[in-house]
Amino acid sequence: MSNRAVVGINWGDEGKGRMVDLLTDSYDVVVRYQGGGNAGHTVVNDRGRFALHLLPSGIFRDGVMNVLANGVALDPENLCAEIRDLRSRGVRVSPDNLSISSRASLLFPWHRDLDGLEETRLGDGKYGSTKQGIAPFYADRSRKKTLLAGELFYPEEFTERLRQILEYENLVLEKEYGARPYQEEEILRWVEEYCVPLKPFIRDTAKLLRDAQSEGKSILFEAQLGALRDMDGGIWPFTTSSNTTSAYVPVGTGVPGIALDDVTGVVKAYSTCVGEGPFVCEWTGGKADRLREEGGEYGAKTGRPRRVGPFDCVATRYGVAMQSATEIALTKLDVLSYMDRIPVCTAYVLNGERTEDFPFPAALDGALPVIEYLEGWKEDISSARTWDDLPEAAKRYVDFIENAAGCPVTYVSVGPERDSIIVRENRRKEWAEERRAAAAGEADDD
Ligand code: GDP
Repeated sequence: MSNRAVVGINWGDEGKGRMVDLLTDSYDVVVRYQGGGNAGHTVVNDRGRFALHLLPSGIFRDGVMNVLANGVALDPENLCAEIRDLRSRGVRVSPDNLSISSRASLLFPWHRDLDGLEETRLGDGKYGSTKQGIAPFYADRSRKKTLLAGELFYPEEFTERLRQILEYENLVLEKEYGARPYQEEEILRWVEEYCVPLKPFIRDTAKLLRDAQSEGKSILFEAQLGALRDMDGGIWPFTTSSNTTSAYVPVGTGVPGIALDDVTGVVKAYSTCVGEGPFVCEWTGGKADRLREEGGEYGAKTGRPRRVGPFDCVATRYGVAMQSATEIALTKLDVLSYMDRIPVCTAYVLNGERTEDFPFPAALDGALPVIEYLEGWKEDISSARTWDDLPEAAKRYVDFIENAAGCPVTYVSVGPERDSIIVRENRRKEWAEERRAAAAGEADDD
């Protein structure tokens, strides 16, 4: 039995879905514990190419129970569409392989409206929301102005509370934004269409997870977005409205004290960022267009072109610390094969001084990247399946990232397909030994 969290180290879109799809083989339960349908995991496997927004990536594996835990923004409309889409492509989704927490809160249509209205009101100062209602949802959840999925089993109380909430939401829609209010009948029809069909999936998932623990089952926790979008540690206010870090697992699943044996931090071989906010390494012009095209860097949810730039050691080291990552899964190394020499950002210059520490968010706008270059390998590496299949320059690039991040790279992904991966079985052990030897060497020098 062992538990693992797969989390993003950077701005999101690192390839977490691809890693979870690969790793689910060894896990009995796969859990989404935070966030909503505002981002997307892209999974390419023998059944085709899928963009998952809310469903855990374990949905493609037989015998895996997938859980949407209490910490997620449960968007019934999107979830029903996602289930319909998967079923139409032959993927089984039933209460036997999907459980929804009775304590997950429901995202209502007004959350999406309020998200869009606020972005429009902000104009140039917008947050770059995907307008999926996530910020208004989490705000309402904090002020207890939404309903739990389990409340659907108490129809009278549900309708009464819905009425009270609707009164409040209509006040905000009409008086703050001059927008159209909702009628009670309209929302009750919406509940009937999108929430009632989910009832067979709704259960006490905290108990399910506790039972899985005591039965010795292994659990994989899947996060959305990355450390730099974390509400507490990220690039505020351009963060998401939930905690994207591994530390949130016990709260977002309702299983206090649950142990994580591994925290796999997913890191892309270069930087990408979708939406607004400071992005120190950002490239523009032709070289950005080339990297974006080579990497297919367009949002899984919105199709928006992602902002791109070189690998950022400062942000990655911070992300590794924030996630308490025990290992790194490095993705998209194959994308860099076209470069003669590969730029990396090794430090920032802030107020004329070099720093390797990730600055306070408000200071990021004034930070400049220090760029160094590593030799490129200029050959197709997408068929590499072992460490030794990689050209020496590619190995050096991975070694560089490992040292810059201060964390062993145990997986190197060279393509989107399930098997386009190099697994470095012993790397964690070797890394620990190398650290010990280095520390002993330093002690001798003293
Ligand atoms: P996630 O939200 O972290 O799962 O990331 P996304 O799914 O938004 O973005 C990752 C994208 O990169 C997807 O289109 C994947 O299929 C693709 N991908 C993942 N790993 C690799 C890789 O090693 N090489 C290439 N070329 N594509 C990859």
